[in-house]
Amino acid sequence: MTVQSNIYPTKALQEMDAAHHLHPFSDMKALNQEGSRIITSATGVWLTDSDGNRIMDGMAGLWCVQVGHGRTEIADAVHKQMVELSYYNTFFKTTHPPAIELSRKLAELAPPHINRVFYCSSGSEANDTVFRMVRYYWDQMGKPDKKVIISRWNGYHGSTLAGTSLGGMKAMHAQGDLPVPGVHHINQPYWFGEGGDMSPDEFGLHAARELEKAIDEIGENKVAAFIAEPIQGAGGVIIPPDTYWPEVQRILKERDILFVADEVICGFGRLGRWFGSDYYGIEPDLMPIAKGLTSGYLPMGGVLVSDRVAEGVVGKGGDFNHGYTYSGHPACAAAALANLAIIEREGLVERVANDIGPYLKERWLKLADHPLVGEARMTGLVGALELVPDKADRHKRFKDVGVPGLLCRDISFENGLVMRAVRDSMIISPPLVLSHEEADFLVATAEKTLNDTYRILKRDGWMG
Ligand SMILES: *Cc1c(COP(=O)(O)O)cnc(C)c1O
Repeated sequence: MTVQSNIYPTKALQEMDAAHHLHPFSDMKALNQEGSRIITSATGVWLTDSDGNRIMDGMAGLWCVQVGHGRTEIADAVHKQMVELSYYNTFFKTTHPPAIELSRKLAELAPPHINRVFYCSSGSEANDTVFRMVRYYWDQMGKPDKKVIISRWNGYHGSTLAGTSLGGMKAMHAQGDLPVPGVHHINQPYWFGEGGDMSPDEFGLHAARELEKAIDEIGENKVAAFIAEPIQGAGGVIIPPDTYWPEVQRILKERDILFVADEVICGFGRLGRWFGSDYYGIEPDLMPIAKGLTSGYLPMGGVLVSDRVAEGVVGKGGDFNHGYTYSGHPACAAAALANLAIIEREGLVERVANDIGPYLKERWLKLADHPLVGEARMTGLVGALELVPDKADRHKRFKDVGVPGLLCRDISFENGLVMRAVRDSMIISPPLVLSHEEADFLVATAEKTLNDTYRILKRDGWMG
């Protein structure tokens, strides 16, 4: 039997969904009343829903579909692998060719000081691995007091216990009494939202020096690691001021703690380099990866491990008592290899740096002229628009934060473009294969959406 999801009318599918399916990060009561939107197929940067609407996927799924939808080359590679060896584990002195080949490939793509990978199935699991690995590393190095991990408010590192704890989402912490002990949060380098009257460059230094203060207050001998996304994704595409990363790198170089760059979004070409760390010239000791690793064709994540950390985790001997049934899953590894082959063959990373990235950015930044937009920003192929009630006053926010953003998101969907709302900023992160014509459509539709949203907000007394 083949399962065909679109043999039912939309209404019937929505009723089944409402009755049986609990969605992530959703108000299920409200969603069940409204009915979920059902995506039935996709190709390139275009989605089709169960009513036959064509919608541009401005978010690459959830920041992950680098090579676009519907690549039969990846499906074929997975099929071939599943016929040959659909599953075997990597626990008991065993492995298989796809995991070996992918490990070699990732070591080649990663910065020179990173040559190993630990596999899992998601970004959250990657950060659970990070949590345990940094503490294990310091135990192995004879410094068992080094346990605290410093991270940032409004960072996102996944939804498991460790991921939620390392992340800085207060709404997530509030459910489940998190974070777990041993995580210390500092402020984010979010100039538009929190920069006060400082210039971006001043604020970048200020935010970086919060890390220095935190390490010195807690004590270097107690701090295990600092974790951060090169650009915060789920937090609202927070692009740090230029001064931020060099100062953080200076602070970390002077102190004996590990640096974890969460590359789950920034990795695999999103910023026009293979990794966000390459883009910013930073040198992390660990890099959690997922999302663009397989372009979302199958779930896979991992932690890229530097030679320094390998010295503790490998060089000292002994078991690292950690792993997942699906660590290095052969079909997922085959999907990743096929995906990376497409990215390389089509020069998608260079394309983001030199072609579609600058092309889209030039047009996207012009949206800052719109009366509803306080700031437009973009690096590589990830960008945001800050919606504000009063363009003349950067510090002013809407009276009900998040409501205008959700309105704008819904209008955008109706207009044929998926944008995501974070508070009242609109986010895009399109597939790296976006063409110039598609970029024009994206910007034109975003502009129409801003106009439509502005009209309603003005009518209903939100502006000013
Ligand atoms: C999405 C994301 C994660 C979590 O990945 P999942 O695959 O959803 O578990 C972790 N870190 C960052 C930076 C992310 O964007």
